[in-house]
Amino acid sequence: MSAQLDNLTNLQPVEGFDSPNTMHFISLLCDDHDCASLNEVTLSLDAPKVETQCVGCRKPIKIKMKAFGYAFTKEDSDKKEFTPLLQFRCTQGFAPLYYTFDDDWQAEVESTGATVPVVGLSDNKELHHDINDEDGNPIGKIYNLETAFVPKSAWETD
Ligand SMILES: [Zn+2]
Repeated sequence: MSAQLDNLTNLQPVEGFDSPNTMHFISLLCDDHDCASLNEVTLSLDAPKVETQCVGCRKPIKIKMKAFGYAFTKEDSDKKEFTPLLQFRCTQGFAPLYYTFDDDWQAEVESTGATVPVVGLSDNKELHHDINDEDGNPIGKIYNLETAFVPKSAWETD
């Protein structure tokens, strides 16, 4: 994940990346057919493995997730690089394509240390998320939010 944070740090799902309850929504693309429909799976640390079938060709899919357990910080934002937060392993022939920010997220305001809810996050570089306090005053900003899946050849098995 990569993003620019203004006056914010520790952007993460409300319960944290390391919570068994945090849901992660992934879309997988099957490379066996020209199917526009993506395979959507939901994973959590409580249920880190999903076995299903491709919605297009019925080929079995297995996917497994691991979370690193830390939040996206202002330091990560300043580096302007992608920070690995989750790792996935899936059946050959499928590739994770999209991460959907469907669960509730939060961030910490740098100047006050307060935790604020972050809703409606979207993997769209064009979108600016203005974070306001209870009175509607701007207190921070999230922009240039991007997620990417990077292949990693060596991932330990269990
Ligand atoms: Zn398929």
